[in-house]
Amino acid sequence: MKEISYSSAGHHLNDSGAIGVNGRKEAVETIQFRDLVNAQLKMLGKTVVQDKDSETLGQYLGRINPTYKDVLVEPHFNAFNGKATGVEVLIADNANDRSKKMAKELVDGFAKIMGIANRGVKTESQSARGRLALMRKKGAVALIEICFIDNPNDMKAYDKNKVNLACFAAQIIAKYDLN
Ligand SMILES: [Zn+2]
Repeated sequence: MKEISYSSAGHHLNDSGAIGVNGRKEAVETIQFRDLVNAQLKMLGKTVVQDKDSETLGQYLGRINPTYKDVLVEPHFNAFNGKATGVEVLIADNANDRSKKMAKELVDGFAKIMGIANRGVKTESQSARGRLALMRKKGAVALIEICFIDNPNDMKAYDKNKVNLACFAAQIIAKYDLN
């Protein structure tokens, strides 16, 4: 039986992403979070496909070929003005029902675990990002903007709860994996 979850970091070591509190780099945080999630997924018996730390998102997306049964999740961190707060989860404009349900569970759970604002599920065109290449893949697909990396309170809540968040994310990914 082949059980695969696609859990990527989305940034790599030459693409630091957003810069936050105390110079914290989004790429470092997302790689660490991806590794926490994937360790949990492996304990749940899943085979995990992930991006390499030196691989661009384009290279990663170019080599994977998920089916509709699979799950693709990628963590990111938001950045704005140092005061904006909360978690949001992005889905495709034409997201399937499974993606919508998974995204809702993820955003509700993350907000509750960290005790920060729930900014809800947004479609890619409602987000600041526009169209996302990840969303063109088959499966249950969601991009988690965990919190605001430039907001000290958000990062405090994240640091305190990241292991719980990773366990929760792995459980949700496993739940929506149809393999
Ligand atoms: Zn990002």
